[in-house]
Amino acid sequence: MTPAELLALDARHVWHPYGPMPGRVEPLLVTGAAGVRLRLADGRELVDGMSSWWSAIHGYRHPVLDAALAEQAGRMSHVMFGGLTHEPAIALAATLAEITPDGLEHVFLCDSGSVSIEVAIKMCLQYWRSLGRPGKRRLLTWRGGYHGDTFHPMSVCDPDGGMHGLWRGTLPEQLFVPAPPAGFDSPPDQSYVDTLAAEIERHAGELAAVIVEPVVQGAGGMRFHHPGYLRALRELTEANDVLLIFDEIATGFGRTGELFAADHAGVTPDVLCVGKALTGGYLTMAAALCTSAVADGISRGEVPVLAHGPTFMGNPLAAAVANASIGLLLEQDWRTSVRRIGAGLRDGLAAAAGLPGVLDVRSLGAIGVLQLDHPVDMRLATEVATAHGVWLRPFRDLIYAMPPYLTADEDLAAITAAMVAVAQKA
Ligand SMILES: *Cc1c(COP(=O)(O)O)cnc(C)c1O
Repeated sequence: MTPAELLALDARHVWHPYGPMPGRVEPLLVTGAAGVRLRLADGRELVDGMSSWWSAIHGYRHPVLDAALAEQAGRMSHVMFGGLTHEPAIALAATLAEITPDGLEHVFLCDSGSVSIEVAIKMCLQYWRSLGRPGKRRLLTWRGGYHGDTFHPMSVCDPDGGMHGLWRGTLPEQLFVPAPPAGFDSPPDQSYVDTLAAEIERHAGELAAVIVEPVVQGAGGMRFHHPGYLRALRELTEANDVLLIFDEIATGFGRTGELFAADHAGVTPDVLCVGKALTGGYLTMAAALCTSAVADGISRGEVPVLAHGPTFMGNPLAAAVANASIGLLLEQDWRTSVRRIGAGLRDGLAAAAGLPGVLDVRSLGAIGVLQLDHPVDMRLATEVATAHGVWLRPFRDLIYAMPPYLTADEDLAAITAAMVAVAQKA
């Protein structure tokens, strides 16, 4: 089929993320990707600023990951996980327990980030049921969050960004506190901590868990906050018999400058979710990890099982490539790479500070953000970025990048130049 034929069929049949059907903006047709470049059907190559939504931390077609996948496909691509187990999943669970904050011992592998949030919530609700406190079934979060697109995760997304108005009566009604004060380096604001304390104490009897994205609120607005708020949440939840869930689906595997964002705060949540970069962006897989206290609570209950078991749970291909990706990350000096990317983003984006329409320029770890005072014109943004040879996918008023860690300095410069140009024109 020609590119034009493919795009015609795409327009007719294929539903794309967060879009109407048919879509209003034609997507770019990709025929291949290698290193940090996407190849388009018309022959153009684009430097990828997005790591395919946080996931492709090692870029595309990495020989180590390709080999791990091929090798595993030569053994078995999938077997059911009920009653059966295998080395790729065992090794992955053991590694995750080792590299995540101390105390997270048990690993539930699942299909996607949203499903891991469902599992995390189920774990927390069931824990309190098992302990004879079924009234503890609500969740508290701060505004500006994003936790996925299935219903329970949607219920803890930012009420405006998550379109809670559209879903009134359908979504469980959770408790919201204001978004944490912005700024990774801004010392914790005691009056905000007092607000957290008051809400958690007031609702302790009905609260199963507090759920937040630690340090970086991603798709909810690319906002950073001080890790001190996480320590405050840990103390407050412990003191009030409430569990704490960290959603590290975007922040995990080095993106914020620590292996996990929780490491900035030195705290262990009761449940932690990872996804996105878990497989280096090769296949869909996520995990919910929990402490022994949570697992014991559930397993001693009236219904002493966690009733969840996706068909493709523990998929060996995904687990094998996840093992290879984590191995590749840990055997290199990833901190230096993330710091280099961060410095490149900071330097390149400095040109945008003070531009008309640019409200804020910020970066943390290997994440760079330009926030505008108006919504980005997406069609124009894509035009401008691709003219610079770069792939960006702004949303709302945000132009942001989280490039693969191996992005070369000159490619990084192209990414920031494209971001600044988009800020000027779109
Ligand atoms: C992407 C994301 C999710 C949802 O993961 P999916 O794999 O898209 O279902 C949840 N939480 C955060 C923080 C995310 O960035």
